[in-house]
Amino acid sequence: MENQKRTRFYDWSIEELNKNKNLKKKKTIAIHTCCAPCALYPIEFLYETFHIVLLFDNSNIYPEGEYEKRKNELIKYINEFNKDKEDKIETVFFPYKNNEFMEDLYPFKEEKEGGKRCFICYEKRMDECYKYANEKKYDYFTTVMSISRQKNAEKLNEIGLKLSYKYPNTKYFYSDFKKKKGDDRAHFLKQKYNLYNQLYCGCIYSYQQFLNKKINK
Ligand code: SF4
Repeated sequence: MENQKRTRFYDWSIEELNKNKNLKKKKTIAIHTCCAPCALYPIEFLYETFHIVLLFDNSNIYPEGEYEKRKNELIKYINEFNKDKEDKIETVFFPYKNNEFMEDLYPFKEEKEGGKRCFICYEKRMDECYKYANEKKYDYFTTVMSISRQKNAEKLNEIGLKLSYKYPNTKYFYSDFKKKKGDDRAHFLKQKYNLYNQLYCGCIYSYQQFLNKKINK
């Protein structure tokens, strides 16, 4: 029973994939994407079944130079991926507005990574992307973030479900990409493509934590 619970988002993602396999025209899935390394396996998982639109919406990242690095790594990877493909992955880049984004996170600056601050951070980015997907009437929306062991898949899927009521044109695609050795495959792909792999999650608080650890080593 407990095992079933642990893989239910994964199982639902497989059910949804099976429903959409071999359609004459692929349906479209919009995917909130935090960085290239986290996107590798979700792309592999979804590409044969769906037409993919990646939404890079990450105003949480600090400093701006780091944001540009992560963005450029994604551009580089997708340009390479698309070269020999008929069905090309699309990318959409949202404006960087770190100051505005951090206003809602500031009251929770003392929280540990994985706490309330992070839940707000997930939801803000997913909300903006889901809104966009809904306006464009894309068939599905999901986020790559469940690939990470540091991100709470339960919470991500709870947010996704909640947003699906707010944005009814687009169905939420449940995911837990790390399950069934998804994280091993993601690790293998990261090594294979030798992508820039960030050393901290993204916001100024996780950056400070990373610097403090470095100093105290
Ligand atoms: S640690 Fe990561 S998920 Fe949490 S608030 Fe910072 S950037 Fe967002």
